[in-house]
Amino acid sequence: MGKEMGVIPAGIGVEPEVEAVVASYADRVAELSELAIAIQQIPAPTGDEAARAAWIAARWQAAGLADVSTDEVANVYARIPGRSTQRALLLSAHTDTVFGHDVDLTVRRDETGGRIYGPGIGDNSTGVAALLMLADDLRRLPAPPVDIWLVANSREEGLGDLVGMRAAVDRLQAQLGAVLVIEGMGLGRIVHRGLGSRRYRIAVDAPGGHSWSDFGAASALHTLVLLAAELTRLRPPESPRTTFNIGRLMGGTSVNTIAQHAWLELDLRSEETAALARIVEQVSVIVASYQAPKWQRRGVKVRAELIGDRPPGEIAADHPLVVAAQTVLEALGVRDSGDLRISSTDANVPLSRGIPAVCLGVTEGGDAHRAGEWIRPAPAAKGMAQLLLLIRWTAAWLGGAAVETDAQGAKPHP
Ligand SMILES: [Zn+2]
Repeated sequence: MGKEMGVIPAGIGVEPEVEAVVASYADRVAELSELAIAIQQIPAPTGDEAARAAWIAARWQAAGLADVSTDEVANVYARIPGRSTQRALLLSAHTDTVFGHDVDLTVRRDETGGRIYGPGIGDNSTGVAALLMLADDLRRLPAPPVDIWLVANSREEGLGDLVGMRAAVDRLQAQLGAVLVIEGMGLGRIVHRGLGSRRYRIAVDAPGGHSWSDFGAASALHTLVLLAAELTRLRPPESPRTTFNIGRLMGGTSVNTIAQHAWLELDLRSEETAALARIVEQVSVIVASYQAPKWQRRGVKVRAELIGDRPPGEIAADHPLVVAAQTVLEALGVRDSGDLRISSTDANVPLSRGIPAVCLGVTEGGDAHRAGEWIRPAPAAKGMAQLLLLIRWTAAWLGGAAVETDAQGAKPHP
């Protein structure tokens, strides 16, 4: 790579030491893959990341990183001291996976296809491996203009509800100037808009009874499926894109019992706050109709509990951080560079609080959240170069140097 970096514009200027590390990534892809596999082998279902967190903390402590600590939600922190006390950069990768303790984590290497298969290998063991490798590299490089906080955070997936990232931003908020979120897959994508979501568990209780002798008594299941059928008839707008999904529906005791309890889980998403609020309101109206006196008289109780609330937020496509990310990707010749996205990631949290943030990928991969999840390690050489260059650029930007455009904050959606 080395001299090809000449295409990187002045704003992304790199010191020779940084250029040498960037060039080294071409020879360190196997090292990164082995690190990713070591991480992937430690189970870390959402909310149960302690073992993986302890492994990372031990590694950072052994490396002599500053301010290594673990908080009550199993976030692991470390700091690369900067030359000034200007606003710091936070670099994060989530440690949790969607796979429970029962899942076989055996890894399969397809040498001819250049792929590695394994549950959680890409999402997000490769992201965490990148964070660890960057920690090593940043520690050896000349001190950046501002502090760089490293966080291997918990609870990004599913019902984790971004709890890990919320705790990290709560803890560091006063000193944060920007956030870079690392995902193992999706090299070339720049997520600069946070997709908002609301998730509900709608539960029904009813008298129930014996299917023959109590026939006619209100059933929690019969009530829930009527309610669910009304939900499926919702017609959210295509633009702004708004979606709903009943992801789970459970209940009852046995085939010959009128169900006393049943519940479903509902996921609502939108790229705009107002549209999200509208579909939330439509759902509330449906739920309320099953809380009416005619249902209460039959002993039916319906409750909707909020189980997920991911705040939307965004920075503009021409925000300096987005432009810098695009510039770096283009300079590295990454296919699909500048693929600007809206998605639900840890970046939602800083974006919703007015802190500029983007989420970036390390390499190519697919079938995330499935047993056949895979990565192709080779492109990670460019993925790592992208991350190091953007980290150094962002630290310089926060330190007040090399900034051609005016700084703009993120636009939180109230
Ligand atoms: Zn992920």
